[in-house]
Amino acid sequence: MKVFILDNGYLECDSNHMVAMNTCATVNEKAPVHQWIKIPVYAVLIDHPHAKILYDTGCPPTAMEGKWPLNLTTLFPYTFTPEQRLESQLQKVGYQPKDIDIVVMSHMHLDHAGNLDLFTHADVYVHRDDFCYGLMLTHQNPDPATHGAYVRADLEVPCKFKMVDDDFELVPGVEVINLPGHTPGVLGIMVHLQNSGTLIFPMDALYQRGNYGPPPRMSGIIYDSISFFKSIEKIRKLAQKNNAQIMFSHDMEFFKTMRLAPFYYD
Ligand SMILES: [Zn+2]
Repeated sequence: MKVFILDNGYLECDSNHMVAMNTCATVNEKAPVHQWIKIPVYAVLIDHPHAKILYDTGCPPTAMEGKWPLNLTTLFPYTFTPEQRLESQLQKVGYQPKDIDIVVMSHMHLDHAGNLDLFTHADVYVHRDDFCYGLMLTHQNPDPATHGAYVRADLEVPCKFKMVDDDFELVPGVEVINLPGHTPGVLGIMVHLQNSGTLIFPMDALYQRGNYGPPPRMSGIIYDSISFFKSIEKIRKLAQKNNAQIMFSHDMEFFKTMRLAPFYYD
């Protein structure tokens, strides 16, 4: 089994979206300068003897050219090179989208579900509560400003969706774990590797090292704060039990230490 990190470019945003209250006014500094930061976007390819598994699909190349509504392009502008397109990254390790058997979606937000249309042939695992919530938000009102970080087109791709409610082993050595809070349902992945040990990919249940602590710190985008903190403690327990490395989702400093495709963890 090999695990490839597929670099999909970066978003820019206010750092308070990642670690809430990162900049906060005080009597001595009544108008602190907010930090405008770059955060990485990536997908994970698990090349397993039983199946080729893609975890998340990143941002779409049309994000800034009409696919994303104006409010989201203003809050989270997306930048990528042709080499960072998901198809190019797959090609780097010798695959095309049609070679992917299984897609696991951490959740259906814009920077994770953006290339689902390449995988209508595959089985796509989604968390039932996140999928239903995204469908509801994007269909109850035509104004995209009311859709949170979901994009209606992503929820309407005709994939073979499989609803997930509980933790389960996807294939030997690859576990899907429930980490709700950021949205009503977030699916993390834990991979047990021969040489690299155990890796936990919590995706947006844990954006950055700053959220992990201890003490853990809230992110600025939250559905259920109590579940969010419970999920972080679940990750902490799993990491201790398995002596695992945690792969933060949107942490540029951490991302610089990751082994990027065509290199891999095995
Ligand atoms: Zn994200």
